Parts: sequence; C-alpha cells; structure tokens
Amino acid sequence: MGNIVLPLSYLIGSVTFIIGLKMLSHPDSARRGNLVAAFGMTIAILATIFLFRDHEGNALGNYLWIFGGLIIGSIVGTLAAKKVQMTAMPEMVSLFNGMGGACAMLISVVEYHHNPSPATGTLIVIVLGMIIGTVSFAGSIIAWGKLNGKIKDKTIPAGQAINFLLFAGIVALAVAVIGGFSTAPALFYGILALAALYGILFVMPIGGADMPVVISLLNSFTGVAAAFGGFLYDNPVMLTGGILVGSAGTILTILMCKAMNRSLKNVLIGSFGGGAKAAASGGGDKQQGSYKEISMNDTAVLMAYASKVMIIPGYGLAVAQAQHACHELEKILEDKGVEVNYGIHPVAGRMPGHMNVLLAEADVPYEKLKEMEDANDEMGQTNVVLILGANDVVNPAAKDDPASPIYGMPILEVEKAEHVIVNKRSMKPGYAGIENELFFKPKTSMLFGDAKKVLQDLVSELKQV
Ligand code: NDP
Repeated sequence: MGNIVLPLSYLIGSVTFIIGLKMLSHPDSARRGNLVAAFGMTIAILATIFLFRDHEGNALGNYLWIFGGLIIGSIVGTLAAKKVQMTAMPEMVSLFNGMGGACAMLISVVEYHHNPSPATGTLIVIVLGMIIGTVSFAGSIIAWGKLNGKIKDKTIPAGQAINFLLFAGIVALAVAVIGGFSTAPALFYGILALAALYGILFVMPIGGADMPVVISLLNSFTGVAAAFGGFLYDNPVMLTGGILVGSAGTILTILMCKAMNRSLKNVLIGSFGGGAKAAASGGGDKQQGSYKEISMNDTAVLMAYASKVMIIPGYGLAVAQAQHACHELEKILEDKGVEVNYGIHPVAGRMPGHMNVLLAEADVPYEKLKEMEDANDEMGQTNVVLILGANDVVNPAAKDDPASPIYGMPILEVEKAEHVIVNKRSMKPGYAGIENELFFKPKTSMLFGDAKKVLQDLVSELKQV
C-alpha cells in the first residue's frame, strides 16, 4: 500500500506548499496558507516515517531518535514562536533559516559517509548541498547576531580579496573531490570549513538597512540546499519545498533590492547603511537647526478639519504596539468625514511586510494600505501626513544627499503634503543611524512621545473636537 500512498502523500505535500504559498500573498488568507502548508508537511513527514522502504524493503526504524527529535524541535519551535516579539521576528527567521542550512549541511555529511564510492552526479549534489547549506548556516548565524546587537558590523581589510580567495579555494577543493583526485575525507571537510568561513566573512561587513536583503538571500540559499537534499533522496516533496523556498527567496531579494534602488552586487560589496559608515558621517549627533513642536490639541484640530490624512507607520509603531490605537484614530477620523489611508514603505519596520502584518492584526482594511508609489501619487492631495515611529523611510537625504549612506533608496515623499506631523520619542536617528533633515523643515512639526500613548491621547482629544 505504501507504494501508492507514499508518492500520493508527497503529491499532497507539494500541492499544499504551492497553495499555501499563494495564500501567503494576501493578509486575509496568509494565516490559513501557513496552516495548509504545515498540514501538507505533516502528512509528508508521517508518510516518510512510516511508509518509506529502502531497496531491501527495510522500514526507517530509529523511531526513538526520530520522534525524540521531532518532539524536542516542536517544543523549542513553538515556545520560540510564541515568545518572540514582533520586532525580533527577523532574528528568529534568520536563526531558523540557519537551522535549515545546517540540516542541508548535515545531510551531505551523512550521505558522504554512507556512500563511500558514489556516482559523480551524486557527489556533485552532496558537495554543492554541503557548500550552500554551510554558507547559509554560518551567514544566518552572523545575521542573527547582528540583528540582536550581539555582533557589530565589521569591515575586514581586503575583505573582498579574502572572500574571492576563499571562493576559489572552495571551487578548487570541490573539483578535487568530485573529480576523484583524492578521496581523503580531509578534503571534504576542508570544503566545509572554507564554506563556513566564507559565510561568516560574507555577512560580516553588511549591515544597517541591507540586512533584510541578506536574510532573504540566505533564505533562498537554504531553499536551494534543501532542493539538493531532494535530489539526493529522490524525494519530490523535499525538492518542491526547496525549489519554492529558493525561488521565493530569490524573488523577494530582487524586490527588496528594487525597493531600495540598489543592485544585489552593490548590497553585497558595499556597506550601505552600515553602522560604521553612518557613524563616520556624523551619525545622529549632528543637529541641523531648530525644529518645532505641535501640541496634542493642535494636532487633533488639524486632523479633524483635514479632508485627507495619510498615516506613515514605521518601526516605532511596532515597538509601541500601537496598531490598535492607530486603527482607533483612523475610525474616529473617518467618522468625522476625513479620508484616511496608510503609506507603506517596503522596508518599513524590521521585516518584509512588517507594517502590513501589524496593521492587519488591528483589522485595518487592506484597501487602506497604499504601496509606496501609490502613496506618493496621493501625497500632493493630502492635507496631513502623520508619521508614526518611522524615520529612514521618510528621510529626504535618500533623494537629495549623494553623500548619504541611504542615497538612492526610494522614500515616501511626505514633503509633498500640506502638513507633516512626526511622532517619535526623541530626536534620535533610526536604523541607519543618520540624521533626518525632514524634522527641521518648515512644514514639519514634532509630536513627541510613545506612539501608543500619543495615539490614545489624540483619540481622546478628537472626541472633544
Ligand atoms: P527607523 O528604524 O528608521 O526609525 C524608527 C523610529 O521609531 C526611530 O527613529 C525611533 O525614534 C522611533 N521609535 C522607536 N520606538 C518608538 C515608540 N515607542 N514610539 C514612537 N516612536 C518610536 O524605522 P523605519 O520603519 O522608518 O525604517 C526601517 C529601517 O529598518 C530601514 O532603515 C530599513 O532598511 C531597516 N530594516 C528593515 C527591515 C525590513 O525588512 N523591513 C529589516 C532590517 C532593517 P525615537 O527613538 O526617537 O523614538
């Protein structure tokens, strides 16, 4: 029976991955999409454990090890996912992605020893899966350390030359192993060591605003490494899953590079938005003149009498967990006949789609979320822009200052609106660590305070206007 049920379960798994991925593209269906794919994955895993037979008809066995691992992994994964703060999500994604890379690496190591004289094709798959999995593992762990602040950006002297040499070394050893010039395991483990070093050195100098691109790229690496595992085991569901992760990660990487108006090469060898560079250019210490503040009452009056308001959410809104208060503000303004929309920058917050997820959690209607280009088109007809904990994504230096480390990144052009109100707690810079000239412009007024508290006070104030 396993003869039919096993391939059928793989087919179900593959189809649910595709359907699940498609459902992830809309906030309304994303949660169900995740469940659909997880359901397919569960079927494929259970079918493999119980129905797989090797060439001699033996079952997998090792059930204690398998279920021990499954149970420990499920408990750790569930607790980590439940405990994680929304703002620390990229860290978790990076860590979990690293685990995927490590699995691909271990599969290659195990299969290398399983099969002492494999066919050349098999050896190619083993070596490539190991190289890509190891780079992804080592790079993801460095990215994880950087995102949680444990590892600082470090520009290594002659880093590019060292990386080139490492890459050449990996290729040379891989040719030696695959070509059968030497069967010494030391050569195989030499590739592993060089790949790990390459992963570390390749992510080390990248920092600041480029981290999302790197994480997405490493994610696509893990997908490709998993696809190699699928080839190795002739396992269609692993192959489909790997290809989907690899291609989705690649597409996301390209989209994010486009959103920041940068090429991937530039992201990987430049150090755009890097802490070191930002600090060198004066960082957040430099003051650019005087700014003006606005009172809560004046803000409420200005917004209540506006006909069009655009809210620009950023990382600070997520930190303050102010999404529900923000939706309250939107509803009360709409009740007063004000049209309210949200301008969403593709890299606002700390992970792709962060603002969409955050606002969906507060039941903000999806149609109100305007992508950057559409928001910019509407900016000229907007009376009041309310910036809630956003900074880099509205920094005009990205357009006007060729010396700025974020020069070239498209931004939300809030200055086109009649009034700009910025809510944040202080004059401190955002993620890229650079001053924001917008705060000192004549059109701009600062409304200091924690986003949630400010929004709650604003709602109370609006009830009296
Ligand atoms: P920024 O990090 O540029 O700025 C956030 C601002 O929020 C800060 O200036 C801070 O100022 C303010 N803030 C923090 N806490 C609060 C609070 N409780 N209430 C009110 N304000 C608060 O955020 P943006 O969203 O504008 O830009 C995102 C940045 O992160 C970009 O540089 C992007 O490249 C980068 N990035 C994006 C990722 C992604 O995938 N989206 C992943 C990794 C990085 P103050 O301290 O004065 O309150």
